[in-house]
Amino acid sequence: MPDFAKLDRAHVWHPFTQMRDWLRSKPIVIQSAKGAVLRDVNGREYLDANSSIWTNLHGHNHPKLNAAITQQLRKVAHTSALGLANEPASALASRLVRAANPQPAIRNRQFTKVFFSDDGSTAMEVALKLAYEFTRRTGRSRKPKFLSLSGAYHGDTVGAVSLGHIGLFHKSWSSLLFKSDSVMSPCCYRCPFNRAKPERADARDYRQCNWECIGKVEQKFAGQRKRGNPYAAMVVEPLIQGAAGMVPQPAGWLRRVAQIVRADGAQLVADEVMTGFGRTGCGIPAIGRRRSAIQFACQHEGVQPDFLAVAKGLTGGYLPMAATLTTQAVFDAFLGEYSEFKAFFHGHSYTGNQLGASAALANLDLLESRASIEARQTLECTLRDELRSLWSLPQVGDVRQVGLIAGIELVRDWRTREAFDLRERAGIRVCEAMAKRGVLTRPIGNVIVLMPPYCTTPAQAACMVEALRVAVRETLGVRR
Ligand code: PMP
Repeated sequence: MPDFAKLDRAHVWHPFTQMRDWLRSKPIVIQSAKGAVLRDVNGREYLDANSSIWTNLHGHNHPKLNAAITQQLRKVAHTSALGLANEPASALASRLVRAANPQPAIRNRQFTKVFFSDDGSTAMEVALKLAYEFTRRTGRSRKPKFLSLSGAYHGDTVGAVSLGHIGLFHKSWSSLLFKSDSVMSPCCYRCPFNRAKPERADARDYRQCNWECIGKVEQKFAGQRKRGNPYAAMVVEPLIQGAAGMVPQPAGWLRRVAQIVRADGAQLVADEVMTGFGRTGCGIPAIGRRRSAIQFACQHEGVQPDFLAVAKGLTGGYLPMAATLTTQAVFDAFLGEYSEFKAFFHGHSYTGNQLGASAALANLDLLESRASIEARQTLECTLRDELRSLWSLPQVGDVRQVGLIAGIELVRDWRTREAFDLRERAGIRVCEAMAKRGVLTRPIGNVIVLMPPYCTTPAQAACMVEALRVAVRETLGVRR
């Protein structure tokens, strides 16, 4: 058998990785997986505590997802969406629209159209280009401008990076990018307007403020309007920002922001690449919807965006596929005689891929099943219970959970909220120690992410949290 670790080190360039460090280490080479367990070439097993970078929903090697893909494979793997329709992509578009629309329907605020692409970044590029051109064609602005949140991350293609505001990732490309505005993200734990002293609880629950973060959004819209060029759109990750460091929004923030966007007449773009397909929990829906039918973060706050970008979990984490949902009004702005050249000149070779669409249909069936809903509710409660134990560690500053997503922020001392310098690699070191205990995840700076697949058992969830607890104690020298 070839030495795959050697081949990898010789030729593979890994994303978001300091390759000098990588070349010094011996990589884990994954060979197979089942449920929440990954197995490497040496037969060692690991828990997949970040669902393979937030993509996997129902576990690996799921019989229903495998069957959907292999059944489709017997018919055809891929044909082009340029000039042809296909069975699974048509069915999937209709299912997605149904899952994402409000119940009961809101007039003029319905998704009717789906543009397929390949990953989260391309789904955001599509939303961005459509919102841009819609704004120009409707005469709202000749130079459409976008507003997104501080710490925003919407992907790594140039358009998506232009909407991002993470200096470390985005600064080097600044002269390649178009300019977008940013507004304060509601990060209660580190909010300059939160007058509450640190407590051993989620900062959203004990914060003392006057919703200054909402005031900032209002000011941005008013300022831009005064300059005579109202915003084309505001782009948000609803309920929780991922790459910003798992930053959750206090209840009511999204609803208020959506009202401001609506009152201004701008478009709302929801990036649900991470949060979509049940990740933010079954919750209690703000309007109309059955608890069990919640699939998107926006639905928790009764917010209906104009664009919804989904990827990662769309295929249950099995194949790269993405979709951008939008309204009839946007679609209509691209209709015309051929000679007017009003078509949306954008597309990818694998748009509407049959294998991906078949996996996505099976994923939606699973998500809507009673068994999956109950398992997710149980897992969310288990995680909540288990995470409580982390408050006893002085180097745990904040534990924030939204549904089946948890971010644990490591600090020098919880009383001061003093951050570790990134050069100390506190997050990386803790994750390395977790890997030694058989639990795999990746940090975002000093924030450790736990985002288990939905099939994770209570015992496996407990094991993930315990590995984190021990790793923090070992790595950061906590004696308790
Ligand atoms: N948007 C969000 C919110 C994301 O978390 C990500 C990826 N982490 C992306 C967009 C980009 O997705 P992809 O990596 O599939 O291009």
